[in-house]
Amino acid sequence: MNHFLGIDIGGTNIVFGVVNESGEVVFEESVPTSDFESAEKLADYISTAVKNNFKGNLSSIGIGAPSLNRETLEIEYAPNLNWGEIIPIKTIFEEKFSLPVYVENDANAYARGVKVFGEGKELENFAVVTLGTGVGLGTIINNAVVEGSNGLAGELGHFVVHQAGRECKCGNLGCLEAYVGAHGIVTTAKEKLEFSSGGSALHKIQPSDLTPTEIFNAARKDDPVALEVVDAVCHDLGYALSSLINLMDIENIYLTGGITNSGNILRRKTEKHLKTYVLPNLRSKINLKITSLNQNGGEILGAVASIHEFSKATIS
Ligand SMILES: [Zn+2]
Repeated sequence: MNHFLGIDIGGTNIVFGVVNESGEVVFEESVPTSDFESAEKLADYISTAVKNNFKGNLSSIGIGAPSLNRETLEIEYAPNLNWGEIIPIKTIFEEKFSLPVYVENDANAYARGVKVFGEGKELENFAVVTLGTGVGLGTIINNAVVEGSNGLAGELGHFVVHQAGRECKCGNLGCLEAYVGAHGIVTTAKEKLEFSSGGSALHKIQPSDLTPTEIFNAARKDDPVALEVVDAVCHDLGYALSSLINLMDIENIYLTGGITNSGNILRRKTEKHLKTYVLPNLRSKINLKITSLNQNGGEILGAVASIHEFSKATIS
C-alpha cells in the first residue's frame, strides 16, 4: 500500500503525519512552529521523526503552506512565520527527501481534504473556514478549487469587518483576522477584562497566559466576560460569512481549527449572527458545520489531498 507524508505549516504549530492510500493517518506529530529557526531545520526534524516512527516507504509529500506564491511555490512574506521573506519550501523538502513534493495554499489544501476524505465527497460547492493564528478560506465551486488570478483567493482573514478598526498584521485596519484570529480573540478578552469588575474566571489567568481555548471553555461555563468575547468573535465571523454566502450562494460551510474543539458554542452563535445578515431567501438553506476532519488529522489529510494522485478528485 502506498504511503504519503502530509505537512501543515501553521503560525503556531506544525502538524505532520504519514497517511495510507485509504486516508488513514498511521503516524502524526505536532510541534510548535517557534521551535524551528528555518524551514531547513524543520525538514531535518520531520525527516528524523518519520524515520523513527514509520518503517515503510513514502511515495510523495504534500504540504499546506500559508502565503504561497502559486507560480514559484515559495512562501512569500508570511505574516505569521519568522523564516525570512521568501521560503523555497518545495525545493527544501525535495532536496531533503528526494521525493515529489506538492505544495498548496493551506486553506485550499484543507478544502481538498474535505473533498477527498470528508463531507465534501458528494458536494460540488462548499467552503472550509480555517480558524487559527490566521483565518483562511478554501472554496470549492463546481468541483474546482477557487484560486483567483494570483492563487490568493480566499483571504477571508483580511475581509474588513470594522471600518477604521484594529490594525492587522497585513497593514490594513479592521480585518477579520485582527478579531477572530487567535491573537485577536485574546486582545478582545484583555480589553473586556480591563472594564469588568472581577466577576470572571479569566481574571485569575495572567493576561500573557490567556488563550482562545481557555476563553471558549470559560464561555461554555457561562462566564460573563468570556461569553461577551465569544459573542463578539462569532458576530464578526458571521458577518464576514454572510457576505461570502450572499456573493457566492454557498450553502455548505465547514469550520475547522483550535476553537472549534470547544463544543457547539462557536457554531451556534456564528450561525445566529450569520442568519441576521444573510439574504432572507438563503437563510433556511445554510448548513454551517464543524468538519469531522477537525479532530481527525484534517490538516495532514488536506496536505495529502493536495498530492496529484488525490487532487485529481477536484478538477483544478
Ligand atoms: Zn489584514
